[in-house]
Amino acid sequence: MAKQPWVDQEECISCGLCIDNVPGVFRYADNGKAECYDPNGASEEEIESNAIDACPVSCIHWKE
Ligand code: SF4
Repeated sequence: MAKQPWVDQEECISCGLCIDNVPGVFRYADNGKAECYDPNGASEEEIESNAIDACPVSCIHWKE
């Protein structure tokens, strides 16, 4: 299976950046934190630069 992003919700500050930047992959979970709901909603490059690298608290990681 391809790499999947996951959000460490303990660290997420709900800034919404990943959701604004890559809405095909991230959304708000019921607890108000970001979650990955579709790992195939954007290219790996897009996820890497617009979510993983952009997250202010660096709480999005790849799960192999
Ligand atoms: S960019 Fe990071 S801190 Fe902001 S909502 Fe997404 S996972 Fe949470």
